[in-house]
Amino acid sequence: MKDYYAILGVSREATQEEIKKAYRRLALQHHPDRNPGDKEAEERFKEINEAYAVLSDPEKRAQYDRGLLGQPELRTEDLFDLFAQVFGFRTGRTAPRGEDLEALVEVELQDLLHGKEAEVAYARLVPCEACGGQGGKRVACPTCGGRGMVETYRQGLFGAFVSRSTCPHCKGQGHLLAEACPVCRGRGRVAREERVSVKIPPGMGEDHLLRVPGYGNLGPGGPGDLYVRLKVRPHPYLEREGADLVYRLQIGLAQAALGARVEVPGLEGPIPLEIPPGTGHGEVFELPGEGLPHPGGRGRGALRVVVELVVPKKLSPKARELLRAYAEEVGEEVAPEGFWGKLKGFFRK
Ligand SMILES: [Zn+2]
Ligand SMILES: [Zn+2]
Repeated sequence: MKDYYAILGVSREATQEEIKKAYRRLALQHHPDRNPGDKEAEERFKEINEAYAVLSDPEKRAQYDRGLLGQPELRTEDLFDLFAQVFGFRTGRTAPRGEDLEALVEVELQDLLHGKEAEVAYARLVPCEACGGQGGKRVACPTCGGRGMVETYRQGLFGAFVSRSTCPHCKGQGHLLAEACPVCRGRGRVAREERVSVKIPPGMGEDHLLRVPGYGNLGPGGPGDLYVRLKVRPHPYLEREGADLVYRLQIGLAQAALGARVEVPGLEGPIPLEIPPGTGHGEVFELPGEGLPHPGGRGRGALRVVVELVVPKKLSPKARELLRAYAEEVGEEVAPEGFWGKLKGFFRK
């Protein structure tokens, strides 16, 4: 036999008021509406209701205390009935909220520096005006008489009780469609273009979603939410890596060997950078604080300058002559003049 006192977290001497209080708190916390798809919460919810069904009834409680009570059987409908008795409202079969939607907003990389107010255009389902959201001409469901519920009297462990369940004929709607509205074809909702302004926070990631409550599809139980996904348009020079930015700096042979002063296109304008003599291909210079803001945090990432050594494909006769002189000076063995010209026909067409 389960320990109903432990399930509700009350002592064996607990008053009816304390039991009810504990039940209210736990039932709300573990209610399936609040924990959709959570099997464990559902089991807990059942246990809590079972415990309350026994302990809230002085006669059953006395029997239970003396170990004379068998385990009561509660069906899902009964759980919600008990809940409704205590809370005064029904749950679990409430009118469904509209569906959540997802929309895309495109911004420039620069917009992520300070954040941006952006307008999102999307379509959502709203009640059809032609039929007032009814879907057409309605008639009351003959099976449930328009209540959406069917009731059966059942004999339970603690006496007869009424079991209610959703009407299988109208699926709980209480009505049937006699004639479909030509505008929404009986669906009761139509797609409408919407625009909503959202605040893109500084440094927002493309894997994050901005929630805009109440801007999803409209359903009988209210609207769903809109989730806005970010897309950053490609920047001509800069690539994004989280809060860091990457710039590929192309330098020539002489710049690599002799060093150079260059300008890097930062987010807020050109940044001067000194390339020291002897800089190799693939070397990285990091400019801290020149990246994007860390989302929700303090400070900014870095701008990483990756050096790409560009070897000239074509040389003027003068440049070739100078390079040959250079090669001779440092003792580098190079192909003789005209050598590649003769082989060109073999390798390159
Ligand atoms: Zn019905
Ligand atoms: Zn309609």
